[in-house]
Amino acid sequence: MWAANQVVCRVLDEIGRMVAPGVTTGDIGELAAQAVRRYGVTSAFLGYGDPPFPAVACVSVNDEVVHGIPSRKRVLNDGDVVSVDFGVEREGYFGDSARTFAVGTIDAEAQRLLAVTAASLERAIEQCVVGRRVRDISRAVQSHVEAEGFSVVRVFVGHGIGRRMHEDPPVPNYVGEGRNPRLKEGMVLAIEPMVNAGQPEVKVDRDRWTARARDGSLSAHFEHSVAITRSGPWVLSRYDGRFETKEAGHEGPRLSSQNL
Ligand code: MG
Ligand code: MG
Repeated sequence: MWAANQVVCRVLDEIGRMVAPGVTTGDIGELAAQAVRRYGVTSAFLGYGDPPFPAVACVSVNDEVVHGIPSRKRVLNDGDVVSVDFGVEREGYFGDSARTFAVGTIDAEAQRLLAVTAASLERAIEQCVVGRRVRDISRAVQSHVEAEGFSVVRVFVGHGIGRRMHEDPPVPNYVGEGRNPRLKEGMVLAIEPMVNAGQPEVKVDRDRWTARARDGSLSAHFEHSVAITRSGPWVLSRYDGRFETKEAGHEGPRLSSQNL
C-alpha cells in the first residue's frame, strides 16, 4: 500500500507542476492516464461505480466538491482552485490521495480555505494512534474547520482502504452517531476532509458524478492514506525518497521488506 501510495503521490506532484491558467481539466486527466501506464499500475477510478466513472482522476473546479469529470472543454483560469483526487491499485493494494491546487494567483479567502482544509487533515492524522477512535479523527477535522468559519461536507466521507479502495470503517469529517471503532495497529484509513467556504450541502450534476456546493461557494479537498502503527501515524501517500522509480516503461522497483 505504501508503494501504491508513493505512485499516487508522484502523480499528484506532476499534476501540481502542470496546473496553470489555460490548462484544461482534460489535460490533467490525460496526464494521470499516461502516468498510470508509465508506472504499470491500474486506475482505481476508471470504470468505478454506476454509471462507470469515465476517467483516471477526479478533477473538480471551484464550487465542485469532488468527482468532477475531466474535460478538454473545461479551461482553468487564473484565480480558480482545482481539486484532484487520484487512486491506483498496485499488486493488489490500493492507494488514494487528493489535493486542491491554486491556479495562478488566488484571492486571500481561497488561500485560507485551502490552508484550513489541509491543516484539518494534519490534525486528523495526529489522531491516528493505536487506541484512539474514528470519532477522534472526525472531531479533529470538524472542530478546526468550523472554528475557521467554514463547513464540512457530510454526504461524502473517508474510508478504510486495502485490497479494495473503499473498506470499513467509514471515516466521517464530522462527529455523528453510530459505530465508533477503536484504531488498531495495521489499519489504513483514507482521511479526506471536503470543506466548503459556505454551507455544507452539495448537489450532483446531471452527469451523476460531479458534486458541487449547493450554494455555489468554493470547495477544497485534501486526502491522505494513513497507516496506524505502533510508532504512530504513517502517511503512506506523503513523499518518501526511499521509493525510487525507474525510467518510463519499467514497472518500478520490486520491494522487499527491507525497503519498507
Ligand atoms: Mg480519493
Ligand atoms: Mg478516498
